[in-house]
Amino acid sequence: MNPTTLFYIIIAIIIIDFLIDKYIDFLNAKHFNDKIPAELNDVYNEEEYYKSQAYKKENYKFSLITSSFTILLTLAFFWFEGFSWVDKIARDISDNEIFIALIFFGIIMIGSDIISTPFSYYQNFVIEEKYGFNKSTKKLFFLDKLKGWLLTIILGGGILALIVWFYLQTGTFFWIYTWIFIAVFSIFMTMFYSSLIVPLFNKQTPLENGELRTSIEGFAEKSGFNLDKIFVIDGSKRSTKANAYFSGFGLKKRIVLYDTLINDLNNDEIVAVLAHEIGHYQKKHVFINMIISIVLTGFTLFILSLLINNSLLSEALSVNQPSFHIGLIAFGVLYSPISEVTGILMNYISRKFEYQADDYAKEKFNAESLISSLKKLSKNSLSNLTPHKTTVFMHYSHPTLLQRILHLKNNAG
Ligand SMILES: [Zn+2]
Repeated sequence: MNPTTLFYIIIAIIIIDFLIDKYIDFLNAKHFNDKIPAELNDVYNEEEYYKSQAYKKENYKFSLITSSFTILLTLAFFWFEGFSWVDKIARDISDNEIFIALIFFGIIMIGSDIISTPFSYYQNFVIEEKYGFNKSTKKLFFLDKLKGWLLTIILGGGILALIVWFYLQTGTFFWIYTWIFIAVFSIFMTMFYSSLIVPLFNKQTPLENGELRTSIEGFAEKSGFNLDKIFVIDGSKRSTKANAYFSGFGLKKRIVLYDTLINDLNNDEIVAVLAHEIGHYQKKHVFINMIISIVLTGFTLFILSLLINNSLLSEALSVNQPSFHIGLIAFGVLYSPISEVTGILMNYISRKFEYQADDYAKEKFNAESLISSLKKLSKNSLSNLTPHKTTVFMHYSHPTLLQRILHLKNNAG
């Protein structure tokens, strides 16, 4: 194959991926006005329903504009040899391969973040604001951005430097060392995410003693789940949207409730949501997900190791001097159809797990409270109640509200 052919393959993958994505969004949008299923008739009143319709349409239009802009810019960058240009800048600054890679990705990441900032600003302060979701201030928005950058520079930069170093030291065997490192790092992160990363952005306080804590502990004890760490996170400083999640494992496991969840749901509904989260843990989903992601990482790195030494990757992007970082960019695009497929598979597994966690909550607590909590959460985030089945198949990590309710009602568990 010659570099020009590979270049056109890369361009074709980017365009096809975009078109498929837009087609799925279009299918989904065509069903925005579908009749609400009878089971979900009590989620919205008339006014809320119209509000949810407007919210969906506005988000659809906005994402169409954003993604079209992004793809045009991406294509232009590939077409006008942008990577070769950034590579040259990096090589003018340093002649150490590790520093060159760091500068290269630094410029690309910070550049694309600056370009996307007006869009996320608009999303937050115009769209989310209009529908009453946004609680963030401009100061907080930019502070978050700054912290995000620092975190990327320190963590992302450190990891990248280490991987390039592995590559320089061991050639194609870098993939094994990188794999081991990423596996260990992701286990470490799963354990310490809540105590190391979350505090940079949010305050977590132990749930105070009272009726809610007593109900939660009562439930945990009854279902044989050893739980002493229940935290409330101040999600309300950014958005009114509510959530709850489980993090870590072993002694590090904790339940985190958004303060917005506590405002929106009654005690039984909160316990039902937690029962669902505990179900994920008890049914080993946390563990299985980690194993799957480690295996997938190994697979990706192995494929990368087969291609990375080929100078064709660099030549396709019009860069004369082959390097790890240029190879990585070309590989990123070439691999994206595969990651699209693994993404769909992961979503499929995730939806199965959601049903299992729902079953657990139904069995150990009750279905009614979970159903009413799911309805309230959908209502308060103006969720789309009639997503198209292709969208669900490709992008949904959770079954739809209707599917979950039908499952909870029908399945004898
Ligand atoms: Zn879940």
